[in-house]
Amino acid sequence: MNYLDLTIKEIHEALVNKKVTPLELVSEALKRAKENKCNAYEYIMEKEALAMAKTLTEPEKDNLLWGIPFAIKDNISTKDIPTCASSDILKGYVPIYNATIIDKLIAKKAIPFAKVTLDELAMGGTGATGHLGKTTNPYNHERMVGGSSCGSAAVVANAVVPFALGSDTGDSIRKPASYAGLVGLKPTWGRISRYGLFPFTPSLDSLGFFTRSVYDAAVILNVVAGYDIHDFTSSKNPVDDYTTDLDKPIKGTKIAVIKEILDSISDVNIQNKFQETLKIYEELGASINYVSMDRHLLKTLFPTYYIISCAEATSNNANLDGVKFGLNIEGDTFNDSLIKTRSKGFSERIKRRFVIGSYSLMAENQNELYLRATRNRHKIVDEINKILKDNDVIFLPASPTVAPKFDNKVDQLEDEYLIADNYMVIANFAGLPSLTLPVGFTEGLPFGFNLTAGAFKEKKLFNIAKALEDKLGFYNLSVRTKK
Ligand code: GLN
Repeated sequence: MNYLDLTIKEIHEALVNKKVTPLELVSEALKRAKENKCNAYEYIMEKEALAMAKTLTEPEKDNLLWGIPFAIKDNISTKDIPTCASSDILKGYVPIYNATIIDKLIAKKAIPFAKVTLDELAMGGTGATGHLGKTTNPYNHERMVGGSSCGSAAVVANAVVPFALGSDTGDSIRKPASYAGLVGLKPTWGRISRYGLFPFTPSLDSLGFFTRSVYDAAVILNVVAGYDIHDFTSSKNPVDDYTTDLDKPIKGTKIAVIKEILDSISDVNIQNKFQETLKIYEELGASINYVSMDRHLLKTLFPTYYIISCAEATSNNANLDGVKFGLNIEGDTFNDSLIKTRSKGFSERIKRRFVIGSYSLMAENQNELYLRATRNRHKIVDEINKILKDNDVIFLPASPTVAPKFDNKVDQLEDEYLIADNYMVIANFAGLPSLTLPVGFTEGLPFGFNLTAGAFKEKKLFNIAKALEDKLGFYNLSVRTKK
């Protein structure tokens, strides 16, 4: 029996019963990490994790995270540990402080184990654009695991650790969760302090995580949610105990399905599975309400996201100037050094986003581009809030396909791409909690469905997700436990 193949809750029982120790868990995780089949690591915290594990000798019965190793997306600050967001611009940067989410987990004696890859600066969705190259899908290395939280998804699906932290600006936790057969949660905007998360699009960014069960996601949210004096955008809304009421009957729950999004998916297996899960929900006493959204408005999701995110990214990455952090290339003047450093440090993809961002923020373009995008964002948010006024959740496939091949070419003007592949950004526009959970396999690859609830309704979200997890039995999936 390898304890890393278990969920947090199960590992906890083994730790409490002294069947395994934190040191054994970390040693085993190191063995697995060193195989590194997915190219998922920026930095393995071997020395630090072993040292911490050695201090953990007396299990804490009521603390489920005691002695549990976890991985960290490398755009989250870790004190004295190199943190480069998979970008050359931050080469050699070693933060002098921990992100609040890290401090909270360490206070519970969870063990930071590794910094893992992402699409450069969290801008991307393929897991192929970080400075180390492609991070692959553990189920099939020809395929992407998705991004930008590619390393986090890969290591949890590979059962190196039972959970990993990620960040989600458009879908960067929930899409990889689908491709990797995992539970992925992006909570309500402000629910988790972002102090120490490198900002990409602060009006959309959330920290979140990957687990192999809904219950485990609730366990982590219990620890990391809450107001933080260091992040004035963190919410003072009271923190629930998210692990209770997970098994409450969902009779009477109202589930909305947005017809236009579902209709733009062509994969028959995904469609069939979706109908099957709707039946399960109905059998459990939920009602399914097909609702409509304007197709043209849905087609604006991606361009609206792109303008807003590029504009905010341009301004938020202006501090990467070669002086304060990471890469520095000498020049005759400050400007000369700045141009040389930024030219070398950022990849072409990132520069393209900055060009679009700067262009849309220029005084003469702002109204037509940036402000227009923000107005459109409000329009979309109004539509979604209307749907959620009459329904508890919106339920849809997380992606129109299983994990694509790396050389996959999609027509970016097709509805399937514009609508079904990009709709999850709605939850970021509106700041809503949103969770992907695994529901099936096709071609040997997992796929997931997504639930989005009203702001601060994480508890309801877990409850509805767990009902499906129990019925489908896609619990604790990893490449090692694949049946
Ligand atoms: N794929 C989207 C992008 O490239 C979302 C990224 C994210 O959520 N961090 O911007």
